[in-house]
Amino acid sequence: MKIHLPTYGQGVHEINQDLEAAELELDPAIFEQAVHAALRLDRHDPYFEFRIHLTAIAHAECDRCLEGFQLPLEVRAPLLFVAGHPPKGDDVDDTDIVYFKAGTTELDLSHDFRDLLILAYSGKHLCDENCKGLCPNCGANLNEHFCECAPN
Ligand SMILES: [Zn+2]
Ligand SMILES: [Zn+2]
Repeated sequence: MKIHLPTYGQGVHEINQDLEAAELELDPAIFEQAVHAALRLDRHDPYFEFRIHLTAIAHAECDRCLEGFQLPLEVRAPLLFVAGHPPKGDDVDDTDIVYFKAGTTELDLSHDFRDLLILAYSGKHLCDENCKGLCPNCGANLNEHFCECAPN
């Protein structure tokens, strides 16, 4: 998602956009539906402070029963861009701040969004907290039917 800076004057702006997986270089088999980005930009030169709110429905497979299901994702994160060079000195290691060349007209947030969504998608996926999973003996999906195997 590209932000055309001259469009936004000093002050606070709300920016809403739907983004396709391809635009964010995400797997379209996982992100089948558009990702909704709601941004709040507070511009006070040279600072461009973003509050990011991303919502998406991702396709996931349950770790217990292996069934596919729709996993809602929600991410909130701040992003700070500063026009100009980083201050000189040894103690500049604040990786949360992105410096860009003064006079740049466009900021591309796509990679930041991609990283946030991949992080949100990582980890365990359960179709339901109470998913009963597969029978370790016969492989039946125990959410759908009981199998003949002895319990325990
Ligand atoms: Zn499951
Ligand atoms: Zn069984």
